[in-house]
Amino acid sequence: MNPASYDVVDGVRTYKLFIGGAWTSSSRNIVADSLNPADGAVFARIQQAGADEVLEAIGAAHAAFGKWGSSLASEREMILLKTADVIERRTDEIRDMLIDECGSVFNKALWEISYVTDCLRSAAGDVRHVMGETMPVTQPGQISMSVRRPLGVVAGIAPFNSPFLLSMKKIAFALAAGNTFVLKPSEETPISGALIADIFDEAGLPAGVLNVVPGVPAEVGDLIMADPRVRLVTFTGSTRTGRKLAVEAARHLKKFTLEMGGKSPLIVLKDADLDYAVDAAAFGVFLHQGQVCMANSKIILEAPIFDAFCERFVAKAKTIPVGHPREATSVIGPLIRDSQCAFIDAQLAEATDKGATIVTGGKHEGRYFQPTVLTGVTRDMRIYHEESFGPVVSLIRVEDAEEALEVANDTEYGLSAAVITNDLQKAMDLSLRLESGMVHVNDCTITDEPHVPFGGVKNSGFGREGGRSSWEELTEQKWITIQLGKREFPF
Ligand code: NAD
Repeated sequence: MNPASYDVVDGVRTYKLFIGGAWTSSSRNIVADSLNPADGAVFARIQQAGADEVLEAIGAAHAAFGKWGSSLASEREMILLKTADVIERRTDEIRDMLIDECGSVFNKALWEISYVTDCLRSAAGDVRHVMGETMPVTQPGQISMSVRRPLGVVAGIAPFNSPFLLSMKKIAFALAAGNTFVLKPSEETPISGALIADIFDEAGLPAGVLNVVPGVPAEVGDLIMADPRVRLVTFTGSTRTGRKLAVEAARHLKKFTLEMGGKSPLIVLKDADLDYAVDAAAFGVFLHQGQVCMANSKIILEAPIFDAFCERFVAKAKTIPVGHPREATSVIGPLIRDSQCAFIDAQLAEATDKGATIVTGGKHEGRYFQPTVLTGVTRDMRIYHEESFGPVVSLIRVEDAEEALEVANDTEYGLSAAVITNDLQKAMDLSLRLESGMVHVNDCTITDEPHVPFGGVKNSGFGREGGRSSWEELTEQKWITIQLGKREFPF
């Protein structure tokens, strides 16, 4: 990191805010700790933006929009490509930050970084495809067209679980379309925001195009929502927070996109290759210790394969290594905070009180939660409906594909779903009827690409993120006509 981005106080780095291309301290001089989930120790500190700094950041983004919004596609393309190169060169540093700040295990951190370089290059490739259209006319001599224009200042509110990926995805496509950006990183992973600013700065992004203002969530959020210079707020996080912010967005008539939580179902039909299904299901729920919005935390099995799947899946769960995220062999690292463990403990206690069985796991040492498998889960239990955001999965037995569909759709969420079967007739029929923004056949529910229309339905959100599907949110269409010769007016 650029030494200007932090001060060292009592041996711990205190990172600054990034506003208008400069590293700056909060006028209130309030700092917050960032804790390492592996041991709860202070990993770094960071300045907290107050109202002055948030408004300054929005002002800087607004001022920078004049030039950036009318920059050539080739200039934006070049910056995005350079940023990807900087990231590749700084991979070790970013990986270590994701491990220390987010509890990412080694391989998940590396995957997150490679996704981001891919995403930036994909956004660079899209820059020249932000296109309008020409339209037929009923008025003789008229040429009718639409052009797509960037919105102006876009603000992003990001969650903790993949802080580098989820912030960068928002920034890359917003910048590609010619918008400027204000990022409010999660209070659990604010240093990732400082690192993102530093990377873009090194790549030569003009001052003010990206600003990063960590702070007290509601304080920063209220200012962003209320400011008319912010044309779009793009949020990724829990449905609970998203619902609150949606009310604020409506109050201020703010354009708003929401990527929220999930209780994603994986249906395994009786003809499936069971070993493959077990591997897919385990990856889909244990990746990043279950802290993935798309995690298949509800596995729905046709009766004839239920017992065999259970046996093999539980055997697999028992072999999944839990350990320090710096160990390259660890698959499950620490959950982000102690209260998340307590939340899951309460879900498990309620489920077992009502008759569910914990077949394996159910315990944690500190923040390290064992891979946990439940059977006998019914719809009167919280865990049937709620996200756990931990390595916890319910195996649910159904009689046939129709009942599997009913159970899969019996949720307020609709982010991702998956079906494992070799019967493509059934797979396609279920794919069309699953109430989900994304469906994957013969895969788990966790899969993502920068250029696909990523997003959910129902209480998982609205709006799509990724590639060309982002343009609808990140640009506005303007209708322009040209009259050749003279129009005939009736009077
Ligand atoms: P969260 O809702 O607690 O926080 C998300 C962001 O909102 C953070 O930056 C937080 O500081 C901010 N925030 C909270 N209150 C706010 C307020 N009043 N005003 C403005 N900002 C506010 O979520 P989290 O715990 O960080 O992340 C986990 C959740 O995110 C899970 O529910 C997960 O499913 C979801 N998620 C969804 C996706 C997706 O693409 N659909 C991706 C990742 C995570």
